[in-house]
Amino acid sequence: MASALKNEDLVSYRRILQTLRSRLRGDLDRMTDEALGRPAAGASGSVSSVPLHMADLGTENYDQEFTLGLIENEQGTLGMINEALDRMEHGTFGQCAECGEAISRPRLQAIPYARHCIRCARKLEGGE
Ligand SMILES: [Zn+2]
Repeated sequence: MASALKNEDLVSYRRILQTLRSRLRGDLDRMTDEALGRPAAGASGSVSSVPLHMADLGTENYDQEFTLGLIENEQGTLGMINEALDRMEHGTFGQCAECGEAISRPRLQAIPYARHCIRCARKLEGGE
């Protein structure tokens, strides 16, 4: 573990992750309101009631569909942020979940919730 993260690094990554998380949560709340808040007839107010068939959606619904896509994305990111904070608790933050190698510093700075080192990320994405 020659390249283990220093405590002060962990502290700053934790701060970044927590900031990201609260910002995402704020975004999600706002977008969920936007997506579901419009007075659509018969809407029950739950995400699962939103029609999923693209063909049934007119352009009017495009914005809503788009927002729901963003919500899905951000929920995924939020999950990864929570996992990263969990890993911090367990002392495995900054380690690749695939090969166990340290994730490079520039990568962590770009994506502090990254699960994999760049090599494994490329491999897993099938980019080769
Ligand atoms: Zn790896």
